[in-house]
Amino acid sequence: MAFELLPLPYPMNALEPQMSARTLEFHHGKHHKAYVDNANKLVQDTPLANKPLEEVIQATAKDESKQGLFNNVAQIWNHSFFWKSLRPKGGGRPTGDLARAVEESFGSYEKFREAFKTAGATQFGSGWAWLVFDGGKLKVAKTPNAMNPLVHGTTALLTYDVWEHAYYLDYQNRRPDFIDAFIDHLVNWNFAAENLARARAQRTAAE
Ligand code: ZN
Repeated sequence: MAFELLPLPYPMNALEPQMSARTLEFHHGKHHKAYVDNANKLVQDTPLANKPLEEVIQATAKDESKQGLFNNVAQIWNHSFFWKSLRPKGGGRPTGDLARAVEESFGSYEKFREAFKTAGATQFGSGWAWLVFDGGKLKVAKTPNAMNPLVHGTTALLTYDVWEHAYYLDYQNRRPDFIDAFIDHLVNWNFAAENLARARAQRTAAE
């Protein structure tokens, strides 16, 4: 069972004008695809061949000799999670349980928004900004390069990509403008709410 490039959950032009079809053609069709192709080459004929993606991420994360494979498998996972974190006509404020969780954890939606934007805007070089569930609370996190919350033992609820390939065609060097567009027009709060409900159920089951 080789790693797969999952199709985008919407058409290439569905996120315009905030994210162009051209950006998605390169980001999904070239960059994400390259991580899949590289990971399949690197894992071939090793004891990790045919293991599930998440298991390969955990098995390689802290092994210096396997950083090439780790970078590619983690980027497969991060990108698949990112595509689901986006939706046409998304963004703005969450509702229901998730809105309450945001207020309890951050004090207000505005404080959450500021922290979530700052995480991506201040990630030096390439990486990711995350909303995670950790110890019963929502938190904002950032990770460099391919690193992700799985490795840190927290549950990802939402992410955005701050590698230049995510925004350069549409926003050039204006990363903060890309982040505003993501937060205000593209966030898939339904996906985050599903992830939060699952994380809470797992936490309850574990107690
Ligand atoms: Zn990317």
